[in-house]
Amino acid sequence: MKSDNMRESSNVEDRRGQSSGSYGGRTGMGMGSGGLGLLLQLLLSGRGGSKWLILIVLAFMIFGGGFSLTDMFSGSKTTTDSQIIQQEGTQTGDLTDAEGEFLSKVLASTEDFWTKKFQEEGRTYTPTTLVLYSGATATNGCGVGQAQAGPFYCPGDKKVYIDTSFIRELANRYGAKGDFAMAYVLAHEVGHHVQNEVGLMDEYNQARQGISESQANQLNVRLELQADYLAGAWANYVQGEGLLDQGDIEEAIQAAYSVGDDTLQEKNYGRVMPDTFTHGSSEQRTKWFKRGFQYGDFEHGDTFSGSIDI
Ligand SMILES: [Zn+2]
Repeated sequence: MKSDNMRESSNVEDRRGQSSGSYGGRTGMGMGSGGLGLLLQLLLSGRGGSKWLILIVLAFMIFGGGFSLTDMFSGSKTTTDSQIIQQEGTQTGDLTDAEGEFLSKVLASTEDFWTKKFQEEGRTYTPTTLVLYSGATATNGCGVGQAQAGPFYCPGDKKVYIDTSFIRELANRYGAKGDFAMAYVLAHEVGHHVQNEVGLMDEYNQARQGISESQANQLNVRLELQADYLAGAWANYVQGEGLLDQGDIEEAIQAAYSVGDDTLQEKNYGRVMPDTFTHGSSEQRTKWFKRGFQYGDFEHGDTFSGSIDI
């Protein structure tokens, strides 16, 4: 991405380097990729006193909040209310490190794009705040953000949370290299904010009431694919501004592919379980991103009616 002359956003909170020692007292349930296994172990062992723990973990999994890029690890970003402390970061539009500066510029371009798009619809866009953190950080409504949860959007406080070490993880663990891979990740999370701003998240939460788990998963997939579409629409804008480098779109497509549910499950569990998909397959995610890139509008981004296999 040709980011040299792009402006930085003023909506960045830099919490990196702040102590996360206050989270030492959390329940100790790392709900990372091994979390479900641990839960099963507890259920099977039936040890006295573990029941309450199981209930708490289940509550975390159900009410955890937050929409992440992959969700494979998202259970780990939650904890009890008593452990949530308010952290105020440095408000800055002048980050000095390359990673922070790049993300701040990408964020600024999402602000320019969505402000324009909302205006066309007679609406006003209120930008999200990007929180950069390391290790763990408090959210308002989504428990404690944990680095291993990956980037996520918290609808409660309308902020996007990114541990900048994820940039290296994206390249090394997910095989998605290049600056535009990370730009796509941020644009996807901003896409969730756009969904929140237009009231779609409220509708989504209402629609989730009283439906089965697999139906809820399907609904979640539609929400996630739309965030991919919105990221694609933003990429269309970036292209129009002449800011794309050769290979950028391929980097984003590779990133969308690498966080598809089937690809992640194959990698983590050695098998694919379509019923448990929450974000869509690699093919679906890349297709909706490409569609957004093609049209760059709201109109073609309806992932809620009709087939998601386009
Ligand atoms: Zn998402």
